[in-house]
Amino acid sequence: MNDTPDATTVNALLNSDRHRAGLNDLTFEVTSVTRRYPWLARVSGRIPGMADTDPADWSHPNLAVRLAVPDADDALGPLIGQAGICRRVYTLANVDTASSTADIDIVVHGSTSPMMRWLTGLTPGDTVDFSGPRPHPAPTGQDAVDPAGRIHLLADGSAYPAASAIARSVPRIATVVLALPDRDPQAAAYSADFPGAQIIFAGESDTPLADALADLDTPATDTVWAAGEREDIRAVRALSLKERKLPRSQVQVFGYWRRGKTGTDTDLARLQGVARMQAEGRELTADDDFEIAI
Ligand SMILES: Cc1cc2nc3c(=O)[nH]c(=O)nc-3n(C[C@H](O)[C@H](O)[C@H](O)COP(=O)(O)OP(=O)(O)OC[C@H]3O[C@@H](n4cnc5c(N)ncnc54)[C@H](O)[C@@H]3O)c2cc1C
Repeated sequence: MNDTPDATTVNALLNSDRHRAGLNDLTFEVTSVTRRYPWLARVSGRIPGMADTDPADWSHPNLAVRLAVPDADDALGPLIGQAGICRRVYTLANVDTASSTADIDIVVHGSTSPMMRWLTGLTPGDTVDFSGPRPHPAPTGQDAVDPAGRIHLLADGSAYPAASAIARSVPRIATVVLALPDRDPQAAAYSADFPGAQIIFAGESDTPLADALADLDTPATDTVWAAGEREDIRAVRALSLKERKLPRSQVQVFGYWRRGKTGTDTDLARLQGVARMQAEGRELTADDDFEIAI
């Protein structure tokens, strides 16, 4: 399969009303770069254009933005008239509309990558353009979460910012399963990010979150929200839906990155997948996402 869609297809998809709905094109002005944990950098900044947007755009507990960072070799940039730029998706760990400020928490992973290069050289005063925020699912009361059940959050480092933002705004989180790059978890510090929840640290394996879920009791009323490495999350999904038979509406699972693939590889495969589905008269849903080969 050719996994590089042509420029016409890419631009039609990315500029469609459906894709652009609710998105803003804004700039993030960096005010500080710190470490929350040895494996997690925090980039704090101002978003000057935030004041001109609808405050409701920023109120959801799980918001993602697509940052435009430099990468001379990116394969998607030239297709959309932005050679030298690649897009990477990050969660807004905190947002304050009163001061037009936000924090983005970035896993410092071992690979050489556009995001790691950008982070290494980053200093206050630097700016980065982004589009967003885009709401991503969270097990809030508005979603089809059984009010009688418990909510479990499963996250690796990349989903730690999303899981902790959700835990701060959804009071009913029973359990948080964490698979972190730090194998010496500082439990006391992490628990402050998940008020009221029981924290379980996953063991070491290729699918740590799925393996930890296998040891967790999840009756039919419970809800599982999970995000992280795609194949681990695929295993969480299979366990939740096929073995545990939880209702689909109570299984919210998302691949945030794929081992051995770049964010651009994922974007191109997804664009190709969406184009194929549209040709078949279908729309891509979160449920279908795992059908796409990345
Ligand atoms: C909705 C959403 C929200 C996200 N929120 C966050 C967030 O808040 N914080 C965050 O850190 N990430 C987050 N991610 C994941 C992030 O977008 C990816 O990790 C991204 O690929 C990193 O870009 P990069 O340029 O560093 O590496 P890439 O160029 O994409 O990849 C280079 C290499 O690094 C590996 N790699 C990428 N990410 C990781 C990782 N986390 N751990 C180990 N190896 C990795 C790849 O497999 C590849 O081999 C989110 C993703 C999505 C879809």
